[in-house]
Amino acid sequence: MAAKGKTNIFGVPFQVTTLEGAYQIIDDFIKGNKKVFVVTANTEIVMIAQEDKEFMDIINQADLVVADGVGIIWASKYFGKKIPERAAGFDLMNMILKNSPEKGYKIYLLGGEPGVANEASSKIKEMYPRINIVGCYHGYFSACDEETIIQDINSKTPHFLFVGLGAPKQEKWIYKNLDKLDVNVCIGVGGSLDVFAGKTKRAPYIFQKLGLEWLYRLIKEPSRIGRMMLLPRFVLKVLFARHK
Ligand code: UDP
Repeated sequence: MAAKGKTNIFGVPFQVTTLEGAYQIIDDFIKGNKKVFVVTANTEIVMIAQEDKEFMDIINQADLVVADGVGIIWASKYFGKKIPERAAGFDLMNMILKNSPEKGYKIYLLGGEPGVANEASSKIKEMYPRINIVGCYHGYFSACDEETIIQDINSKTPHFLFVGLGAPKQEKWIYKNLDKLDVNVCIGVGGSLDVFAGKTKRAPYIFQKLGLEWLYRLIKEPSRIGRMMLLPRFVLKVLFARHK
C-alpha cells in the first residue's frame, strides 16, 4: 500500500510512497486524462536545486516527485514522514513499460546519443513484445530541431514521454515545452535509455541492495566524481539540519 503525504527535503517535496504506489499514482493521472510531469529526484538533484532556483521552482511545480535513491530514503526520516522505499527512475520506467501492453499505453523515447533511443526501443520490444513504442528521438538536438521533435511527438499522441537528457536539462526541457506537448505523462529518466540500450550497465543487485549504486557508477565513470561530491555534502547538510 502506498503511504500518504509528502516529505519536504531541503525544498524538494517528495511523495511518501513505494515504487508500486508511485506507479499507481501515475496510472490514476492517466485514467483522469491529466497532463502531468514527474520528477525522479536523487540527492544530486536536491543539491543542484539548492543552487539553481529555476530548477527548484520547476521541481516544485511537478505533479509528482519520487525518491530516486537511498540517500533520500535515509534523509526522509529526519524530515517528517519516512519514505518507505526508493522509486528509482529506471525501475519506475520499467514498471510502466511492463504494464503498458495490457493497458494499451503508447510510449515515446527522447534522449541519449544518436541511435541510443532506437536501440533502447528494440531491446524494450524484446523484453515486452506487445509494447507500443510510437517514436524515438536522440537527445543531442539543436534549438531549431525542437519544433520538429514536438510535432513528431504530438502526431503520435503518446501516453508516456520518457526524457533522458540528464538532470536538470530534462526537467527544464519538459517544463518549457509541457504546454505544447500532446502527452499524458512526461518523466525525466536520466541515463535509463543507455541502460535499456545496453550501452551502460546498472549496478549489480548487491550494490543496489546495499545502497551503493553510486559507488558502482563512480568506479565505472570516474569523471562523475565532481557531481558525486554532492553526496557527502548532502549527508553533512542533513546531519547539520538534524542537530539544529
Ligand atoms: N544527454 C542527452 N542530451 C544532452 C545531454 C545528455 O541526451 O544534451 C543524455 C546522455 O546521452 C545520457 C543522459 O542524457 O544518456 C544523461 O545520463 P546521466 O546518467 O548522466 O543522467 P543523470 O545522472 O543526470 O540522471
